[in-house]
Order: sequence, then C-alpha cells, then structure tokens
Amino acid sequence: MIRIYNTLSRKKEEFVPLEEGKVRMYVCGPTVYNYIHIGNARPMIVFDTVRRYMEHKGYEVNFVSNFTDVDDKIIKKAIEEGVSSEEISLRYIEECKKDMEGMNVKPATIHPLATEEIDGMIDMISTLIEKGYAYAVNGTVYFRTRRFQEYGKLSHKNLDDLQAGSRSLLVSGEDEKEDPLDFVLWKPKKEGEPYWVSPWGEGRPGWHIECSVMSRKYLGEQIDIHGGGEDLIFPHHENEIAQSEACCGKIFCRYWMHNAFLNIDNKKMSKSLGNFFTVREISEKYDLQILRFFMLNAHYRSPLNFSADLMEASKNALERIQTAVANLKFLAEHATAAEMSAEETAKAEEAKKFEEDFDRSMDDDFNTADAIAAVFELVKYANTNVTENSSKAFAEAMRAEIQGLCHVLGVIAEKKEELLDTDIEKLIEERQAARKARNFARADEIRGLLLERGILLEDTREGVKWKRV
Ligand code: AMP
Ligand code: ZN
Repeated sequence: MIRIYNTLSRKKEEFVPLEEGKVRMYVCGPTVYNYIHIGNARPMIVFDTVRRYMEHKGYEVNFVSNFTDVDDKIIKKAIEEGVSSEEISLRYIEECKKDMEGMNVKPATIHPLATEEIDGMIDMISTLIEKGYAYAVNGTVYFRTRRFQEYGKLSHKNLDDLQAGSRSLLVSGEDEKEDPLDFVLWKPKKEGEPYWVSPWGEGRPGWHIECSVMSRKYLGEQIDIHGGGEDLIFPHHENEIAQSEACCGKIFCRYWMHNAFLNIDNKKMSKSLGNFFTVREISEKYDLQILRFFMLNAHYRSPLNFSADLMEASKNALERIQTAVANLKFLAEHATAAEMSAEETAKAEEAKKFEEDFDRSMDDDFNTADAIAAVFELVKYANTNVTENSSKAFAEAMRAEIQGLCHVLGVIAEKKEELLDTDIEKLIEERQAARKARNFARADEIRGLLLERGILLEDTREGVKWKRV
C-alpha cells in the first residue's frame, strides 16, 4: 500500500487510484525562457521517481507535464535578443529535454505546450463566464474568487486574511476588478506581444488556466496526482482547483504533492541574488546522474541544500554502487561454477529482504533517502557474500538485484565506459571540420557528447586541448 502526504489534508493518505491499475498524474512544467536551473530539476527528478515507482508497482501511469511557452519572461527575452517568442521557447524546450535526458528523467506521456491549447482555454473561460464564475471588463477576464466557496482549501488560507493582504498589493490597472481577490484568466494584448483572437478581444491567457485545461484534455476531469514545487501551492494550484472545479463541478484532483525547495549554501536560490546554477553548468563538472542521486538522498518534502561538498559526497556514494556492480559483472564473467549452490540460493533469497525494505520506504510517501539506505545495505551484502568462488548465477542475481532497485530510482548503476584517447582525438578532429564548415550545431553536439563522457574541451591558441573531468 502506497501512502502519500496530501497537501490538501496535510496527512499521509493511502493511495487509491480513480481507476484500478491506472494513475493519472499532472506536474507543472517550467517556463521556457532560459536553461533550467537545479531548483527546477528537483520536481522533475522527484515526480519522475514517483512515476517510476508507480510503474514498478504495476500501475499504468499517464504522466502529463506542460511547457509554459507564453509568458512575460519569454517575451522580455525575445525582445532582448530581437527574435520571436516562439524561437526562445522552442530553443529552451529543446535544451530542457537534453537536461532531462542527462538526469534520466523520462519524457512525459505528453508534454503539451500552452500556445497549442489556446482554443481549449477560451472554451473553459467561456464556460466559467456562463456559470457566473468569471466576468470580462475591457478585454480582461477575471475569475470571481469568492464565488468558489472552497477557495483556500489547498493552501489552508482564509479569504479574509487574503483580502487584507491583497489590498496593499493592488496594482494600478486592476482596480476594475470586482474584488481584489479575483485573478486573471485572459488579458488584452500589448503592442509587440503574441496574441490570439478571443470573444473578449485579442489577447493571451493568464498562466493558471493552462494547467486546468491541459490536465482535463489529456487526463480527464478528475486526476489522481498533481505535483509541483511548494511555491506553486498558492496561488497557482489554488487557482487551478477553483477553475477546474467551478467548470466541471467535480473534485479536480485527489492527491496534491509538493516538493520543498532546493537552497544553495543554505540560502534561498534565486535568479535575482545570482546564486543559482543551471543544470547545464552542473553537467560540465559532474555526470548528471550524480545530481539525480544527490536529490534523491533527501526526502522530497525536506528542504535540500546544494553545495560542492555534498555533490562530492554523492559522487563517492554513487561510485560505491557502480563499483560493486562492475565487480559483480567481473566475478560473473570469471566464475567457474554456473549454477547456484544450495547455500547461494538461500543467500539470494535472504537478499530479498533489502528489496522489501526498499519498497517499504518508497511506500511511505516515497522516502527515497531510506530507499537508498536499503540499496547500500544490499551492496554491502553483495560485497561480502559474492567472491571469486561464487557461481555465475549468484553474482548475476546480486547484480540484477542492485541494478533493479537503482532502475526504480532512475539512477544508472553502470559505469560509463571510458573513451579511448584515440576516439577522443577522432571526435575532436570531426568537431574542427564541422566548425570549419560553419556547422556549429554539429560542433556543439560533439562537445556535448564528449562532456557527457567526462571529457572537457578547451579551445586555446595552440589548438584544442582536452582533459578528463
Ligand atoms: P517555474 O519555471 O518557475 O514555473 O518552475 C518550474 C518548477 O520548478 C515549479 O514546480 C517550481 O515550483 C519548481 N522550482 C523552482 N525553483 C525551485 C527551487 N529552488 N527548488 C525546488 N523547486 C523549484
Ligand atoms: Zn500548473
């Protein structure tokens, strides 16, 4: 039985899916105006692991995660670079997918784009107006927050407290709202911004409506799990609930899961403070498997501190697992006996208890920290019990057991084969040729390929130098 801490009830609850054997899951994705930072990577890794564990337990998971590709920050970046918003968003969606691959985050079942779902958003906004939950003023459509009786149920906020807080937040131009608590569903276009035609004039959707629309379209009116970082609880997820439940008249989502924040050197990571790292920057120093492993060493609801020391510790810890797997492979290849002895069969059976510990930890609100501890116990057990005298079958069984558990966590337990010097030189030559031909895409690709295998290139006056990192 899987138990999930539900932000809605502030309790751990038994997971019972809407439809037997199936999980419908939605996770808010990034706004694509730059490379993703390691904070954005946390929900990706956390919810990918939730999904993998659900699949391990035999569920069929329909996992939807959007890309927000219309937003002020994207427009700003497009203006700075003198290109279209679409060019910016498509570029960073591609880059984000590369980072996801590096972190072994599986692609979602579907990754919808906000700009491709505008018709659905217009439909939902129209329904909300028809039902009296929304109103249009001068080309802007607002959600009538107080009409939705249960507003505040997720964030456990009281409407009157919110009202008091929001009075000082009232910004000019929003005084046309009936109530300061009302939020935007559609806004009129500004010069030079992307826009779509709607019954309320040319404009673009507010951010919150996209997730309500996409989850309904791809998962149905009711879903099992909705995830995101804890900063999204209010107002984003509160607003999603209001929109979806006002529109469909049904409970939108059963289990709301939120990951805590990733900090840097014990300080809040923020772009404005300049203390953040992109995943791409980290990939220049570390295999992104290490970043994944580092994140999973903490419970997803605990704040996590990022530091060079902790990354080094994760690197060493992951190496211990990878070395054990490599040794078991070697021992299996060089074993003299093929089949397990009676004693080995008993030991292989005994080792199953580590898998049980692993599952018990994961069943308890996805406690990956304890699950990893179980993997280390298993590694220790394999290291002491598999020797040069062991059978091939026993060494293989222990290796499969370790790799199986790592696979559930999405952690690759196999060491990457080291590239030979001659292979590296060949790739560098190919990159130089690509650069000469002004095929910079290929040149960058080769640089990236080498980096993934731990080879860093340096372009110097004397030519290209490389080193293993
Ligand atoms: P955004 O692109 O800002 O909408 O963020 C995408 C996802 O990353 C959301 O689920 C955020 O809650 C999450 N997120 C952003 N910063 C952090 C952080 N420092 N730690 C953990 N999650 C974060
Ligand atoms: Zn969302």
